[in-house]
Amino acid sequence: MKVPLVDLKRQFASIERDVRAQVDEVFASQRFILGPKVKELETRLAQYVGVESAVGVSSGTDALLISLMALDAGPGTAVVTTPFTFFATAGVVSRLGARPVFVDIDPVSFNLSPAGLAEFFENETDGAPSGPRLKSTGEEVVAILPVHIFGQVADMEPLVDMAARYRVAVVEDAAQAIGADFKGRPAGSIGRAGCFSFFPTKNLGAAGDAGFVSSDGELGEKITRLRVHGGFPKYYHQIIGGNFRLDELQAAVLLAKLPLLEAWTEKRRANARAYNGLLESSGPVREGLVSLPKVTADGKRPHVFNQYVIRAQDRDSLKEHLAERGVGTEIYYPVPLHLQECFAPLGYGPGSMPESERAAGEVLALPVFPELESKEIEYVAECILEFYG
Ligand SMILES: *Cc1c(COP(=O)(O)O)cnc(C)c1O
Repeated sequence: MKVPLVDLKRQFASIERDVRAQVDEVFASQRFILGPKVKELETRLAQYVGVESAVGVSSGTDALLISLMALDAGPGTAVVTTPFTFFATAGVVSRLGARPVFVDIDPVSFNLSPAGLAEFFENETDGAPSGPRLKSTGEEVVAILPVHIFGQVADMEPLVDMAARYRVAVVEDAAQAIGADFKGRPAGSIGRAGCFSFFPTKNLGAAGDAGFVSSDGELGEKITRLRVHGGFPKYYHQIIGGNFRLDELQAAVLLAKLPLLEAWTEKRRANARAYNGLLESSGPVREGLVSLPKVTADGKRPHVFNQYVIRAQDRDSLKEHLAERGVGTEIYYPVPLHLQECFAPLGYGPGSMPESERAAGEVLALPVFPELESKEIEYVAECILEFYG
């Protein structure tokens, strides 16, 4: 049997007619830039996330970039985030000339540790109640950037409390968490802005690059201007933006897919439960050789399983064993960001973020996409048990 990590062809087979019909409408209209499809999608996304504004942008990376631009992150400022995430989360901070500051993760959720964040504000900043500054450089902390990693919402309550106390904005990297909630509040509606990606393998994927930013109306207006080079009215520029537009064709594809997101999310969760059921009382899990993902956040649907990530002893050999048996897996992420070569000037060394470093050596993502069949999940579980004998 062959079980790929993701198989987008299976999904396309079930939606092909709707997607083609939507895309045909765009070709018939020849309106490719910021047309009615983008507008309609933005209206639906704002409803879905429960926010005043949803602005379609060119990618999840650009959603992060434009949000931080709107909040005036730049030279002389710092943004606090997790090192256990996709590169874009911290890359955008540096691209704006701001300093990424890393706080280690909670080992159970893999998300930014609230205790670590409290320690950071107390020990590494001057603790000023409005715009605390880093003791080391004097840079002003303007935002906390938690990531809802693998689809599980970060522990937002203490984060939001700290942000209010120090008057720092919260920007959620919700790229992996569309449809998740924290105590009934949708991911992306809790901070000042939420950044989403429609990369094809995200829970809602476009036919290429796309993303959006959720926010209140005021910030949404600024982001809408930044998306078109900051021009408002057209050709008059008080601020400098860029070309961050969502393509009309991508919006058309996403309009065809959005009605199915709820069902796909439930399938992902059911697949995660199936793995749990097959593995939780097995030898390797009881002996601590494998640990299964834990839902620690409080909510109706706190985890939407963009990835189903286990920790495994002898992870690299397990990955090889699974590959030999036709099972696709991936390591998200092998090098925590504080140890990336390009961030060496930030001065973090090995051992400075021990939980992120340990996670990087142990994690393995298993296939969990919605169209996965029970017999495939059973096969993956069997192959794991076989490896540990
Ligand atoms: C996918 C992803 C991004 C970037 O999104 P793109 O659409 O690929 O630019 C950012 N952050 C996280 C956590 C992601 O998973």
